Amino acid sequence: MPTTKKFLLVQLIIILMFSSASLRSQTARPDGEKKLAHDIYKEFVEIQSGFTTGATTPVAEAAASRLRAAGFPDSDIFVGGANPKKANLVVRYHGTGTLKPLLLLAHIDVVEAKREDWSMDPFQLIERDGFFYGRGTGDDKAQAAIWIANLIQYKKEGFKPDRDIIVALTADEEGGGPFNGVAWLLKNHRDLIDAEFALNEGGWGEESKGKKISNDLQVSEKYVANFRLEVRNKGGHSSMPVPDNAIYRLAAALQRLSNFGFPLKTNEVTAAYFQQMAKIETGPMKEDLAKASNGSQEAMQRLAAATPAWNATLRTTCVATLLEGGHAMNALPQLAAATVNCRVLPEDSVDYVHSTLQKVVADDQVNVKILGEPAPGPASALRPDVVQAVGRATEALWPGVPVVPIMVMGATDGKALRIAGIPTYGVQGIFFDRDDIRFHGRDERLRVQSFYEGQAFLYEAVKTLSKSAAVAKVDVH
Ligand SMILES: [Zn+2]
Repeated sequence: MPTTKKFLLVQLIIILMFSSASLRSQTARPDGEKKLAHDIYKEFVEIQSGFTTGATTPVAEAAASRLRAAGFPDSDIFVGGANPKKANLVVRYHGTGTLKPLLLLAHIDVVEAKREDWSMDPFQLIERDGFFYGRGTGDDKAQAAIWIANLIQYKKEGFKPDRDIIVALTADEEGGGPFNGVAWLLKNHRDLIDAEFALNEGGWGEESKGKKISNDLQVSEKYVANFRLEVRNKGGHSSMPVPDNAIYRLAAALQRLSNFGFPLKTNEVTAAYFQQMAKIETGPMKEDLAKASNGSQEAMQRLAAATPAWNATLRTTCVATLLEGGHAMNALPQLAAATVNCRVLPEDSVDYVHSTLQKVVADDQVNVKILGEPAPGPASALRPDVVQAVGRATEALWPGVPVVPIMVMGATDGKALRIAGIPTYGVQGIFFDRDDIRFHGRDERLRVQSFYEGQAFLYEAVKTLSKSAAVAKVDVH
């Protein structure tokens, strides 16, 4: 990362911290707006939209009828998708057109949930002990409901944004595949969702032991590349072994891989992440976090050794995950093969990882082959207007809680948008206990208060981002 850019980033974070300190705003919207968000949320959660057994079309239609009832014209509402059960909803709220549109994305399919696996019906929104329970309460129907409720509120207020605000509720994020709504919209109706940038799931607030730690802003994702290491040999009878053995060759190659680590480095996002973590951390790692953000190799080595998560943040990783070989107990192996799963930093290319693996294996009898077609996803630049709007809304609701830019190891629909040239930021302002994340699991839940705080947070952040004044205040180029 160029020093000037890093300097600007530091400057930006400092500006952020001071410019917003005096702002305070309500931590929840007025009762009428809360009720609307709640009712939409309940309706969405109670429609079964499981990836394999359910349908997103009724969710899209429920949203469409709410919007029509609120006065959105049919010409601004689109319902359609790759399959009659897998519809998406896209709605446009018109601004003055001074700026390019802002896209607000949420997926409306959910991971399957079986009644017998849960303590309650997963497709009923149940409020108990301060939590909303139900499949999709966290992933991702809260954000979907909030986008719709807030859009209806903007219209009610007569809010005039400087850019169109587009909300897209999409199908099949969880399983990907042929009916993925974002991929389908990009391919068939790019005009409907084309935007200067997008907000999506993927970054939430982290809470630990009841204390808010950070409001995460997801800016990039690692991508997956799988390789097959394969050794072929003419084989023979096992009673007369020869030194040239496919299993031994593969084993030696894997041994070399296990001793290898890709270079440790930071990028714009992870440097900012470590810098913010240095402020939060109180333990012995505090100093190393700060040093790592400034490029210290020694500090990065200590962090990588400290936790697998930091190791994975600081480098591309490749690890053997599957093994096969031999065909009979009494025959020399004719084939030995391993699958190596790589999680690649956005700035590392597939070719680079491929050629590095070949060098590490260092044996031309071991064929290193790419499986499938890995699709690298670029990082979204840390746009000053996004960082500032998120920072201001965060400081106003939860004074002192830092915004932490993150790169995640998993994948969301944000990747497809980034590849298509729409920078995408995962941000929700919905806080979860980081020691009790239940997405995809049993008894998924979200704190009632966090839902309403998320509504208020996104209401403010989106308003700020759809006004041109948001850009002017920060002196970063
Ligand atoms: Zn999700």
